[in-house]
Amino acid sequence: MKRFLLGCLCAAAAVGAPRAQSGTAQGFPPGADPASRERAGAVMRAFAAAYPGQITNVRYEDGDYAATVNGVTFYFAGGRLLPANLTPLSMDYSPHPFYTYTPGMPVWEEPTEEDAERIRAAVARRNGAPLKRSQEFYDTLLRAGTKDDAYARVKSMRFLGRSVLVHYSIIEELSLVEEAILGAAKKSPAVRTWIDNLDSVTGWNWRSIAGTESRSFHSYGTAIDLLPRNRGNRDTYWLWTSAYNADWWAVPYSRRLNPPEEVIAAFESYGFIWGGKWLFYDTMHFEYRPEIFALNGIDYKRAW
Ligand SMILES: [Zn+2]
Repeated sequence: MKRFLLGCLCAAAAVGAPRAQSGTAQGFPPGADPASRERAGAVMRAFAAAYPGQITNVRYEDGDYAATVNGVTFYFAGGRLLPANLTPLSMDYSPHPFYTYTPGMPVWEEPTEEDAERIRAAVARRNGAPLKRSQEFYDTLLRAGTKDDAYARVKSMRFLGRSVLVHYSIIEELSLVEEAILGAAKKSPAVRTWIDNLDSVTGWNWRSIAGTESRSFHSYGTAIDLLPRNRGNRDTYWLWTSAYNADWWAVPYSRRLNPPEEVIAAFESYGFIWGGKWLFYDTMHFEYRPEIFALNGIDYKRAW
């Protein structure tokens, strides 16, 4: 039993801290071979369930699972999500992470020496060969293939008293997340304090994931960062910690600046994953990934 899911080490990949996860169970169903046809079908069906207005007609075609995304056919391609013209070049691309995700605050387990070796090797591999995912699937899904297109899809909204630019499709969900957080603040002084201590709220930002050639979900405006003002001695983001601590991944949750559980739960209840669960932790980061919830059989609410 391992806490860290090394199969998909990357800034947008999971660390599964909860005890029930295994080192190889990167996808769903648990125990399925990540490269199997079964998993390919499960991922494509999860996408169709998460985006029924955009992703349709999941089928097995030309030896792979395919789906129609806003009129364009995409193949699973070992998790690379490629249109037909790119499938011959699939080895040039890194797979997208479709990881095991468990709602709620994970349980910390001290990494063993064996874990440490595996993590160091995986981090070295990532540094040696930066991730390069094809963006075409999400570009087509979110209709935002260029910076100008992406900017045309974002709108300004108020979130916990700040203005933030986000993809138009998640405004209602974020409003409901905010409502849930404000409701929790009435009962929880910790949530109230966390809101009062918020510094910046950042949504849309056209950029790559640090140290990779893959675009961040901030580029679509479907990710939001909530950065506290006073961080004390707590660690927030793996990259900042890595500047002075080579074993940044070994910092236990108790020494990280995690949002209150109620805040994580509010986001998760509307299909947002929390970056604090990744091995490459990003405790300020939430990202709209309803396909991850659908894939893991986790209920979430929609605004529509
Ligand atoms: Zn972020």
